[in-house]
Amino acid sequence: MSNRSIGLDEELHAYLLTVGVREPEVLRALRDETAKMPNAGMQIAPEEGATLAMLVRLTGARRILEVGTFTGYSSTAMALALPPDGRITCCDVSREWTDVARRAWTDAGVADRVELRLGPAVETLSELLAAGGAGSFDLAFIDADKANYDAYYEGALRLVRPGGLITIDNVLWSGRVADPSVNDDDTLAIRELNAKIAADPRVDVVMLPVADGLTVARIR
Ligand code: CA
Repeated sequence: MSNRSIGLDEELHAYLLTVGVREPEVLRALRDETAKMPNAGMQIAPEEGATLAMLVRLTGARRILEVGTFTGYSSTAMALALPPDGRITCCDVSREWTDVARRAWTDAGVADRVELRLGPAVETLSELLAAGGAGSFDLAFIDADKANYDAYYEGALRLVRPGGLITIDNVLWSGRVADPSVNDDDTLAIRELNAKIAADPRVDVVMLPVADGLTVARIR
């Protein structure tokens, strides 16, 4: 798992971060704190946080669904880009990780924009649908266990409105998706979803080589 852009060497990546990303201090501090934790590679790259924030601003999104919150970098970046009455629903299974995220939301002044749903996200998405949530989100960001990526994508297709965006992290999977000799469960799950979305008539799509690969699908 890479948390920096594939194809950029250290020097060029450092340059990109210098002139290509305006990282708020609260996010820089969160990145430093998370880097000391186990699973630190699960944190998204600064350029990906900036990309997500830009997508929120470009689309004027007011309701965001996040599947996989970890320590809060992406949710904080997107919440900061929301209007004051915007809301982000965050799904994660870990109280330990999301306790770090809660502090980041508070430090960033966006805690009142965030609703945390602890538990398996497949169940949370079903609950949101059962509660009449179909079409109620403007943008979804999927970055959780790869085995359930297809279920998260299908859930997001129902929960996000037509014209809204579904974004998916790690779609380049450090290059393993393009190596036919690699066939572990996670790689297969991502490879199969990538192929499915490429031919999916329900969306328009572009895969951005940002960090470990970010798919941006717009629901038709
Ligand atoms: Ca990720």
